[in-house]
Amino acid sequence: MVGPLDRDGDTAPFLDGTARGEFLLRRCPQGHWSEPAASTCTACGSVELSWAASTGDARLVSWAVTHGRPDGDTPPPRHVLAVVELDEGPWWWTSLVAADPEALSPGIPLRVEFARAAEQYEAVPVFRPV
Ligand SMILES: [Zn+2]
Repeated sequence: MVGPLDRDGDTAPFLDGTARGEFLLRRCPQGHWSEPAASTCTACGSVELSWAASTGDARLVSWAVTHGRPDGDTPPPRHVLAVVELDEGPWWWTSLVAADPEALSPGIPLRVEFARAAEQYEAVPVFRPV
């Protein structure tokens, strides 16, 4: 479950990456990784950040399960919202897909994939247990 997302000047490079199937992070000249929205390096304070592709691999940090609206006799859909730690270090709020909430535990490996609310919307990162 992902919502529609519109791009602006700040998010365009990141969303160009998701459209190519890449989860881009910010990297400084010393090689430190920062989250996509960072304007300065979170390790050394450098403002010379460039975009670089992460591996897309992550570990589960924490999560919450939301329940949708029941539809007749069908059980309400469950949706997992999560915080993940990318292998490069930054944390990311996301949705888990194909995740059995009963089988989740801290530290399990995850891999990024990309989802769109509808064809006309931007691709956004979601994570799947591997
Ligand atoms: Zn740095």
